[in-house]
Amino acid sequence: MPEDFIQTVELRKTYNMGETEVHALDGLTLSIPSGSFTVIMGPSGSGKSTLLYLVGGLDWPTSGNIIVAGLEIGSLDENALADYRRNKVGFIFQSFNLIANMSAEANVAFPLRFAGVKKKNRIDRAEQLMDEVGLKDRIGHKPTELSGGQQQRVAVARALVNDPPLILADEPTGNLDSTSGQVIMSMLDELCKAGKTILVASHDPRMLTYATHRIYLMDGKMVDEKQYLDSISISS
Ligand code: ADP
Repeated sequence: MPEDFIQTVELRKTYNMGETEVHALDGLTLSIPSGSFTVIMGPSGSGKSTLLYLVGGLDWPTSGNIIVAGLEIGSLDENALADYRRNKVGFIFQSFNLIANMSAEANVAFPLRFAGVKKKNRIDRAEQLMDEVGLKDRIGHKPTELSGGQQQRVAVARALVNDPPLILADEPTGNLDSTSGQVIMSMLDELCKAGKTILVASHDPRMLTYATHRIYLMDGKMVDEKQYLDSISISS
């Protein structure tokens, strides 16, 4: 069995909204194996994005632990967390999150600025990745000059620029047509086969075709498949 790449222990994230508290994650204990393609399923508001943000070091837990690649994320200081985000994680968002006034190539190269990589090497690496995602002929295009599917391929290239072992994707096909969505799923599958650990929140049933593992979330808690399917059939 491959070792666990991600572990969470009694992970909680609580938002204080005036008088009420929202328990986005409510004591989550789980393990995700190294090299797996794990799909997080759950209705809107069940805590999928919150989990990805915490694993990605984009936010801090209220309590509990997250261990990724042997690092306890919640106890890292700002600098160590920035290092972690840069070297260990590639993030792909539903809405691509590309910088509008930069070319596709500059978007891909951008994270390397913070890694102290020389300009020539940044450009070479971005070109290589743009080629790998099949967009070598679009390196000078701005995001608005690209289709949604192409923008997401640029976002995949950007996520890979520091060669992180972990790819996190939050509804990566949510804004794409069916064909473009398929391309992104196949890319994630290839990355998994190349040894990366993939953690994806998705509503897209086709994503399950690639899943080696599934996590079902309801109200910030992990449930089993039967509980999840029962609750879906009650609500529909
Ligand atoms: P999902 O990704 O499954 O749709 P989220 O993780 O986005 O779920 O949200 C889980 C819960 O936490 C929801 O009830 C949501 O409204 C709440 N939530 C998420 N982010 C915030 C925030 N920044 N402030 C307050 N509540 C939030």
